[in-house]
Amino acid sequence: MTATGIVGEFLALKEETDADILAMQCGDFYEFFADDAELVAKELDLKVSQKSSHGSSYPMAGVPLNDLTPYLKALVERGYRVAVADQYETENGHAREITRVVTPGTLLETTDADAQYLAALVRDSDGFGLAFADITTGRFLVTDVDDVADAHAELYRFAPAEILPGPELRGDDEFLASLRDGTDASLSLHEAEAFAPGRARHRVREQFGDEALESVGIDSERAVRAAGAVLAYVDETGAGVLQSMTRLQAYHARDHLELDATTQRNLELTETMQGRRDGSLLDTLDHTVTSPGGRLLREWLTRPRRDPDELRRRQTCVSALASEALAREQVRDVLDGAYDLERLASRSASGSAGARELLSVRDTFAILPALVDAIEGSRLVDSPLRDVVERPDREAAAALHDELDDALAEEPPKTVTQGELFKRGYDDELDDLIERHESAKSWLDDLGPREKREHGIQHLQVDRNKTDGYYIQVGKSNTDRVPEHYREIKTLKNSKRYVTDELEEKERDILRLEEVRGDLEYELFQDLRERVAEQAELLQDVGRTLAEVDTLASLATHAAGNDWVRPELDEGDALTIEAGRHPVVEQTTDFVPNDLRLDQRRGFLIVTGPNMSGKSTYMRQAALITLLAQVGSFVPARSATVGVVDGIYTRVGALDELAQGRSTFMVEMQELSNILHSATEDSLVILDEVGRGTATYDGISIAWAATEYLHNEVRAKTLFATHYHELTSLADHLPRVANVHVAADERDGDVTFLRTVVDGPTDRSYGIHVADLAGVPKPVVDRATDVLGRLRDEKAIEAKGGDGGSGEPVQAVFDLGSGQFAGGSDTADVTETTGERSNGTAATTANGHAEPARAELDADTEAILEELRSTDVNETSPIELMAKVQQWKERLDE
Ligand code: ADP
Repeated sequence: MTATGIVGEFLALKEETDADILAMQCGDFYEFFADDAELVAKELDLKVSQKSSHGSSYPMAGVPLNDLTPYLKALVERGYRVAVADQYETENGHAREITRVVTPGTLLETTDADAQYLAALVRDSDGFGLAFADITTGRFLVTDVDDVADAHAELYRFAPAEILPGPELRGDDEFLASLRDGTDASLSLHEAEAFAPGRARHRVREQFGDEALESVGIDSERAVRAAGAVLAYVDETGAGVLQSMTRLQAYHARDHLELDATTQRNLELTETMQGRRDGSLLDTLDHTVTSPGGRLLREWLTRPRRDPDELRRRQTCVSALASEALAREQVRDVLDGAYDLERLASRSASGSAGARELLSVRDTFAILPALVDAIEGSRLVDSPLRDVVERPDREAAAALHDELDDALAEEPPKTVTQGELFKRGYDDELDDLIERHESAKSWLDDLGPREKREHGIQHLQVDRNKTDGYYIQVGKSNTDRVPEHYREIKTLKNSKRYVTDELEEKERDILRLEEVRGDLEYELFQDLRERVAEQAELLQDVGRTLAEVDTLASLATHAAGNDWVRPELDEGDALTIEAGRHPVVEQTTDFVPNDLRLDQRRGFLIVTGPNMSGKSTYMRQAALITLLAQVGSFVPARSATVGVVDGIYTRVGALDELAQGRSTFMVEMQELSNILHSATEDSLVILDEVGRGTATYDGISIAWAATEYLHNEVRAKTLFATHYHELTSLADHLPRVANVHVAADERDGDVTFLRTVVDGPTDRSYGIHVADLAGVPKPVVDRATDVLGRLRDEKAIEAKGGDGGSGEPVQAVFDLGSGQFAGGSDTADVTETTGERSNGTAATTANGHAEPARAELDADTEAILEELRSTDVNETSPIELMAKVQQWKERLDE
């Protein structure tokens, strides 16, 4: 049977929307019926009652009209899309229609200080277009990237709450699964037409103006399609904030440091590997006093820059604020009272801002001149901070401030429909109404004393309530004195209530005046709010300025309090750190500072040392110092010179991969593969163990080949921690490779980690050593040493050398048995001087003399060697390489 009546209306509206849940206004409540009622009741712990409708009974749950927001928020945060149907008056009663669909990316009512991005993602044959909109602040960004890894990196940076995949991605289950895996966003399949190029372009033009696309330099159709789809979605969900999206910001990957999703996670920029904010870099650095400042700091940390001029500008501001403690504190004090102007702009545009919010706009605008004074009245005036505070249109800000100040009452009520919002003198008509209203009210105020006096009634008071309206209440003991024209309306235990004709007339007057006043004030308020919304861009400008000063002051506070220094930015290959520390670890540990030197001639460090000695910390510290320098921050070191890099790539053993059910080795190889493909000569690469997830010789082979490739082809600045101490010999032959190790002090069988990184390789393989220290019985340790020796015996690996200055790659042969290259570094020298490319035909005998090898090799080995020679390492994926090595090994073992 089809439901009729109110439930029928509910179900019909529900049909109209693809939302999961419908909240329908019924008078003073929002009601949920049928399945929705059950679901909401379960999720939000609401009581379910039964609604009878034409012989059937339906579950029903409801929340009061003014309490919907927290329920909406809770439902949306659980990933539901909630449609809201509002009731409106019509000539013959009322009707209802869906006014909004609230989704995770369009929840205006968020109380979370973090940005809340809605993203659209479009793929075509050449790459991905992405658009990000934060409807709570009006931020709108678009970009265009070449490949899927970059798309994931951008999504990770923005951490959207909701993603709209383009129509071409919807059938790609694998891709959708990777989105679900890689982000916490909910995926919404918005209508395909919104992504159509023509329609999308039209929308973008309509929103940002005809020239917007050209002026921001976005000519990629896929980026425009993503932007158009986001705009359409925001419009259709009815958040009503389009007006606050004033600016299309296009950015290019080349403006920012490349940080793939794995690296952002590994470096624990905004949360730790365990998913906590505590202990992240952001948490450590965040001394901001406003939530927009905190948001901007997060943005800076996740999107470091490459432009040295911009970085130096930030550095100079941080430097000025760091050295002027008094002025800095004053600046922070002034900022402390600031509200979130970007959010207020959106709330004004959507019509959800009340008078109190507009007062917050006024009060925050008042901060701007105070901030200018604090800066101009101190030595900060000589820094670029002055330009920061001079950026917004201060005259326009002062004018809007004064307008709000003249208009709004000091303590307006929360609701905007019942008057008392405005000051006297704002509007003549309103003043007149207020006057009449006030005089009617004062007549009422005087009524009690007047009646008491006139009729000699002592226990008399005038009051008002919902059911009785205005009345005169007289105590029982005095009721014999009430005059005739009093009409009794109610008897209470100790008193009676009366009305008079005059009182009723005044009451009608007052009610009418209240209504007219409420209506007029609401109208005036809407106009005022609209004028504020029209100036959304001004609010955003002032908001961004305050946020930027807050962020810079936060960086300065941290620098001053933790003895950080201003790094010198260098356009070359250098990364020189004197007495560097790890920015987060130093907070909780008595940190032993370390030096680091990388330059053109020493671009690849192999870091060795026992487990838990500090290799990982040392390498992350290098990455974080580089990153901080490219945020414009000071860094934890005695001094530092940082060559600006185009990207940071890391591969470290991740904890969560096992939990995700992915083979760690596969993940390790995928990450390695991504690094080998993406890193460039200007990148910084951090490898914390490569090849550990497989058998030793497999592992060494891959680590070896990856080292050669990074050194010879990619030529990125690299730090590589490995427990294969065999790799340390590469330093003798690859010109830019050097060894460092973390020193440990061994005495009486105890190892003390000194945490000091010194030049040179470790002198032993630590696995067996650690077993020994751990008390593994001596026969086992001895036997292990013996087995290791045998395993190494007479096995040799070729080492493909760097160009060594000759421009040609060279090859040397490394003997795992002796741990040396054939003929030592001479081999390389000879090759260089003859200018020939060595083809690896030399092998070593046990005594280390190089001899012609061909004669000694059987046909099988010869074949394998030939295959090895013809394998182009640069053209072969690590996984294929691994398979080949495995195969060769098996054939050799036969
Ligand atoms: P590894 O990578 O060699 O296994 P880690 O870098 O994980 O070692 O460091 C092991 C422990 O030593 C960590 O708890 C870390 O906090 C601490 N540590 C590392 N480097 C230092 C240092 N320079 N000073 C003080 N403690 C350190």
